[in-house]
Amino acid sequence: MPRTNTIRTAAPPADTDLQQVRSLLQKQRAFFASGHTLNLEFRLERLRELQQAILQHEQELLDAMYADFRKPQVEAYATEIGFIELELKLVLKNLSSWVKPQRVKESLLNFPSRSYIHSDPYGITLIIAPWNYPFQLLLAPLIGAMAAGNCAIVKPSELTPNTSAVVARMLRAHFNEAYVAAVEGGVSTTQHLLQQRFDYIFFTGSTKVGKIVMRAAAEHLTPVTLELGGKSPAIVTEDADLGLAARRIAWGKFMNAGQTCIAPDYLLVQESIKEDLIQHIIQYIEQFYGQDPQQSPDFARIINETHFNRLSSYLTNGVLRTGGVTDAATRYIAPTLLDKVTWQHPVMKEEIFGPILPVLTFGQLDEAIATVKQHEKPLGLYLFTSDNEKKEQVLAHTFFGGGCVNDTISHVANPNLPFGGVGNSGMGSYHGKSSFDLFSQQKSVLHRGTWLDLPMRYPPYANRLQLLRKAFKWL
Ligand code: NAD
Repeated sequence: MPRTNTIRTAAPPADTDLQQVRSLLQKQRAFFASGHTLNLEFRLERLRELQQAILQHEQELLDAMYADFRKPQVEAYATEIGFIELELKLVLKNLSSWVKPQRVKESLLNFPSRSYIHSDPYGITLIIAPWNYPFQLLLAPLIGAMAAGNCAIVKPSELTPNTSAVVARMLRAHFNEAYVAAVEGGVSTTQHLLQQRFDYIFFTGSTKVGKIVMRAAAEHLTPVTLELGGKSPAIVTEDADLGLAARRIAWGKFMNAGQTCIAPDYLLVQESIKEDLIQHIIQYIEQFYGQDPQQSPDFARIINETHFNRLSSYLTNGVLRTGGVTDAATRYIAPTLLDKVTWQHPVMKEEIFGPILPVLTFGQLDEAIATVKQHEKPLGLYLFTSDNEKKEQVLAHTFFGGGCVNDTISHVANPNLPFGGVGNSGMGSYHGKSSFDLFSQQKSVLHRGTWLDLPMRYPPYANRLQLLRKAFKWL
């Protein structure tokens, strides 16, 4: 597909009606009850099938994401397709050991015995994805759900209709819908899905819709994972390597045009180095995207008109240091730095989710920590410093989902680090083994030996209290 400066707006996917949703769920219930997904070989084969499906559809997926919001191919490969391929490789390599019941230490109270944790699938899972990483955020939880032996219904975002269509087509071509199915559609489709009883719901999206999902899940006591957003700070202290900090902040902020849940939302920089840091960031924006970022093939567009208008309205907040250029026809907003911003400005009242970086300052590190703690616990936090004591101080006194010291975003690329938020930025975490654990019910089983059966525990208890006290102290 030729790369152009225009964006194609595809029609949103047609909604899926309630009857279709119900009948799909019935099929999945029956399939799960058949026990096929409990089998390790079944799971491995299907995960390999998914690997093949992605390989076959790779170019189509890259084109679809470009068509949806001009997501640059390199970014789309690294953060969506390549990311998922690595996740699949890791799961395929380790699943046979993960599924084994894990033996745990005994309690002497139960002597003689052996205790195990079995990882059971929940059953039918619902995975609801947002638009900003429309492939990765649908497939990563799906891999976890499949690895753990669940059936899954995935709901791609209606705001990326091209990607939604390719993913749905890909899953239909490779999987029986009684096992894995994509349900396309907008809000009413999600509402139909949420009315049903699922065994697990995995939602990625806004905090506002996260609450709707959790309310619906409560109706059926369905466990949920919520992967939400928030305002993730990038704190820069005066001893940091400013050039490196600027480069890594600009990369993490302007990738995907700032539409990344863990993008640094705002800068919290020590007053004494603010000017230097701003100059470095301006220099890197130009180095990355040229003098006119609108012409750069490496800079994405804003997802829709509503978000374009919301983001454009922030451009009058504070003082513009670079950027600020917009083009409604192509939903372009230049990489922008806003200086002299306060928490009273609208840009600081909600998650920005766009290529606008407000600059706030602090005098002493305590103030920066206090600022972070005065607000909701963020999904990410990035600290740039060369001072170990400062590092320890920030890590010990701030609470956030995950983050980096001297980098942005990169923690998401280590599958050994559980990925998730806390408080308003979410609950539950996944990636790698954590995904398998998240989609598994931990069933605890004690196997009691039969060769010894002390009469102590059985009534009549008579005067065993003293003896029992001594025994518990000794244990
Ligand atoms: P969103 O909450 O608007 O939509 C997510 C999904 O919810 C979509 O599939 C949509 O169909 C559905 N939905 C929307 N309104 C609904 C309603 N009223 N009732 C039921 N379902 C509804 O989120 P978005 O705009 O697609 O994504 C952006 C948000 O997602 C940001 O807040 C971002 O921080 C967050 N996010 C979080 C992560 C993470 O991993 N924590 C990753 C990416 C995005």
